[in-house]
Amino acid sequence: MSIADNINSLKKETGALKVTLIAVSKTKPVEEILEAYNTGQRIFGENMVQELVEKYEQLPKDIQWHLIGHLQSNKVKYIAPFITMIQSVDSLKLLQEIEKHAEKNNRIIDCLLQVYIADEETKYGLGFDEVIELLRSDEFAALKHIRIRGLMGIATNTDNEKQIKEEYYELKTLFDGIKQSFFRKDVSFDTLSMGMSSDYKIAIEQGSNMVRLGSTIFGQRVIKHWKNN
Ligand SMILES: *Cc1c(COP(=O)(O)O)cnc(C)c1O
Repeated sequence: MSIADNINSLKKETGALKVTLIAVSKTKPVEEILEAYNTGQRIFGENMVQELVEKYEQLPKDIQWHLIGHLQSNKVKYIAPFITMIQSVDSLKLLQEIEKHAEKNNRIIDCLLQVYIADEETKYGLGFDEVIELLRSDEFAALKHIRIRGLMGIATNTDNEKQIKEEYYELKTLFDGIKQSFFRKDVSFDTLSMGMSSDYKIAIEQGSNMVRLGSTIFGQRVIKHWKNN
């Protein structure tokens, strides 16, 4: 199957369920991104700032770019002018840095709080208590150029479907609780980003409304620099 075939069938599947499809194009060359773009796909996800900026410069300007990888505070300035959504916010300090650069660019930047749900040491994210603490803080209340659209989480990389299901269930429960407590009157808190190629069906069953799919669309990633592909 071609990239176009893959994306067309995934768009049908997710569209029918009102789930937003993020095409994760990290490590993939611009030609392959254009193949997806030419099917009508407009939302793409990248995890490295430099790669994202270079692709942004080379590709059509109506692409909506989502940053899905860990963001260092000192790199916010490179993406603040154009980024559609930062899904990987994992500290108040980072939010304050995004605020600063959003203001400079005269924008409000959509963000998701990345919540740690996996049973692994390596994944970034806020703990459940830390999310609540952040949302309750005066520092958070002072941010005027940030719009929190929802939560993002990455489940454990495992074949144990029951475990994945439980992790996504917990994140959905947290999402519903936070919506009730902090965003009841705010319709823009509407996004629960969970699900990758290996587990997106489980994630959707558990209430995800945004999936981030890379290998299912573009094929397996070989670890090499995207420009030398
Ligand atoms: C790479 C990546 C994905 C996509 O992974 P696939 O398994 O290729 O679908 C999704 N989310 C994040 C945060 C990623 O880094």
